[in-house]
Amino acid sequence: MAKCFNLELLLYKFRQFKNKKRKQGTNDRIKTLYKSILFLIFGIINIFFSFPQYVIAQENKHETIKLQLRWDNQFQFAGYYASEWKGYYREEGLNVEILPALKSDGTILSATKEVSEGRADFGIGAADILIANDNGADLKVTAVIFQQSAARFYLKTETPYSFIADLANLKIARNVNDLIDIELQAALINEGIDPKKIKAYHHSPRLDNLVSDEVQVVPGYKLSLPFIANDLGLNLKEIKLSNYGVDFYGDSLFVNGKLVKKNPDVVEKFVRASLRGWEYALTHTEEIAYKIDKELINALKIDKNLEFNLYQAKIIKELTLYPIVEIGHINPYRWEKMHSFLNQIGLVKKDLNVDTFIFNPNRVKAERDKNIKRFFVWALLLILFLLIIIFIWIYFLKKLVNMRTKELKENEARFRSVFQNTNDTICVLKQGIVFLANNSFTTMFGYTPKEFYGRSVIELTTPEFRELITNNIRKRFNKEKVQDFYDIIGIRKDGTLFNVEAKVSVFEQEGETYTIAIMRDVTESKKSKEELKKEKDKAERMSITKSEFIANMSHELRTPLNVNIAAIQLFESYIKNTLYIDKEKIAKHLKAMSQNCFRLLRLVNNLIDTTKIDAGFYEPHFGNCDIISVIENIALSVADYAKQKHINLIFDTDTEELMMLCDVDMIERIMLNIISNAIKFTYDCVDIDIYNKGDIVVIRIKDNGIGIETENQSIIFERYKQVENLFTRQNEGTGIGLALTKSLVEMHGGNIRVESEPGKGSSFIIELPIKQNISEEVEVPRVIDDSYKDKLIEKMNVEFSDIYKTIEK
Ligand code: ADP
Repeated sequence: MAKCFNLELLLYKFRQFKNKKRKQGTNDRIKTLYKSILFLIFGIINIFFSFPQYVIAQENKHETIKLQLRWDNQFQFAGYYASEWKGYYREEGLNVEILPALKSDGTILSATKEVSEGRADFGIGAADILIANDNGADLKVTAVIFQQSAARFYLKTETPYSFIADLANLKIARNVNDLIDIELQAALINEGIDPKKIKAYHHSPRLDNLVSDEVQVVPGYKLSLPFIANDLGLNLKEIKLSNYGVDFYGDSLFVNGKLVKKNPDVVEKFVRASLRGWEYALTHTEEIAYKIDKELINALKIDKNLEFNLYQAKIIKELTLYPIVEIGHINPYRWEKMHSFLNQIGLVKKDLNVDTFIFNPNRVKAERDKNIKRFFVWALLLILFLLIIIFIWIYFLKKLVNMRTKELKENEARFRSVFQNTNDTICVLKQGIVFLANNSFTTMFGYTPKEFYGRSVIELTTPEFRELITNNIRKRFNKEKVQDFYDIIGIRKDGTLFNVEAKVSVFEQEGETYTIAIMRDVTESKKSKEELKKEKDKAERMSITKSEFIANMSHELRTPLNVNIAAIQLFESYIKNTLYIDKEKIAKHLKAMSQNCFRLLRLVNNLIDTTKIDAGFYEPHFGNCDIISVIENIALSVADYAKQKHINLIFDTDTEELMMLCDVDMIERIMLNIISNAIKFTYDCVDIDIYNKGDIVVIRIKDNGIGIETENQSIIFERYKQVENLFTRQNEGTGIGLALTKSLVEMHGGNIRVESEPGKGSSFIIELPIKQNISEEVEVPRVIDDSYKDKLIEKMNVEFSDIYKTIEK
């Protein structure tokens, strides 16, 4: 039950919450959800669209670019210095750091390694770029500066040499697989000579071996070796490998593939500025050579540095083929061919994709645009997919919400109907104030629940319970244990009172303590309980009475029989012994015998009549007669007998004659029974009055005897009831008389009651309705002749038999 209340309270709270939110409603909430999701989606789209702008903004940032050279600072790299000095890089928004490869400690950095490992962005290389890529690097060629390779083989002028095949017979100094050696191998392969068959002699960069004739041929770059030889006074002739179909590119500018992907614009800017620098350097060779000599620090200390740079400028002009060939020009076929040579000598194994190997800004940009477009397409598809998922999700969510709402409503309706339709009054209280109540509240208290909301529960009960309830509310609030059952009196709205049983329980919710009171109107059940108790008491009393009656009856039957048997035995002994028979004694015994016979007769008559009445067989014989004379005759007849007991019996009436419908025999039974009781219990006086009260006639038999206790006054009319106990009583009797009398009075449509005061006497008052049967002839009052007298005396003897004196006829 308490659970049910909890639920009801929850429902109530939920209702309150819903009322607040009602304006919004489930659909509105879902609309809000839709809006939020759309907002989110548009947010995402916005991010997608601003992404390319972000990328471009990133690209436009002032970048710092590192360029790794392949040797010490010298005219070989003049274009890059020129670009820096002339501010071409700055114009492109670039900060450029030019890093020489030769360190002061003599170590030489590999440009391909530095760039591929991310320590530099750009580098200068040639065939080594292809080798590095084959080994896993991601390098792109952006511009070729030296259209011809600077790699040469040198021999003394006098050394005989005509064809490359002559080399097989000469001692060649080799650094196997260095860039110059690669070109040599390529030339040998082209001529059908296996490079492995050419012995590699030790190579000394300072040409000592050549001077001492240890070797006849030495490799070297045209950029420096002739200058050194000239310095040594050596006359050398050169073998140019391009004459043997080996057309390798010389210095080329390459870039890390990651930078191309990340920022192709920066790459393009750097290449553009570098080529501008080269154009400048090649057209202003002396100025740049002079600046290189003056401003750049060299790890390699060269004596005639200016001359050296000027020498280099001259050679580089040749190698770049400028201005015949556009500076930076790339022929992809030449790179493929270089790759093919490298492949033949086993230095590269993978295929070359020349399209991706050569940096093409337009292609990269197109690729980037394509990627952005693809990104957008995928993003849109993803958004579309997400939207579909979200809308499906919302659709099912909406369905679920509707379903749950329906279930909730059904449950609410079910619980409401249980709550409202239960017969018990249920009310929920918060600190004694009615918070919630069901419809039965109206039925029980007359208030509608709404009328009583917010009012104190103590108003529902009578003042004597209010203090108890108030104290208990306080105690319960303080978490003290108090009674949970109340048997109180309730007050309805109209002020009427009724019995209430209340069962109280407590529950807590959200920190609040609530009391549930289940109240029941127990007025009817209380009444029936009381009646049941009365009936039970009555039945118990009856049971006791019956036991008493049986004991009484045994006594009443046995006493006269014993007396008669004793008399009979006496007579038998008289006859047996033929003794003198004392007539007086015999008469006395016979009198006793007859009195006891009358007692038995009275008892039997009473029992039979009672049984007859119970069974509905007692037939009254109503006739019109003068009730005054009937009562007066009885009074006169009894007066003689009363006198014997020294009792004064006085008759009084206010009416001479009163004809009414009655059964004279019954009236006689009624009167004789009451008068015999009066004589039995009085001290000296019995008054019999009869008064005409118009509608009724009132007969009153009054004595001044022992009287009857108030509590016994109502029970003497019950069957078998005697006030005195069998063993303590002073007078005989079975307790049937007054019950029978009452039945007879009621058969006349009248009633009988007693007014009595213990010690002062009793009055039995009979009220009979005055009815007359006009259709019948008026019955002539009985003549008070001897036979009537005899009959009456006989009746008196029977009725008075338990007073022990028989009236003489
Ligand atoms: P019974 O048939 O044995 O006489 P009743 O029904 O006539 O019994 O009387 C029942 C009881 O009522 C008597 O035993 C007696 O205790 C009491 N009673 C009746 N009349 C009187 C009276 N006038 N004064 C005192 N007690 C009376």
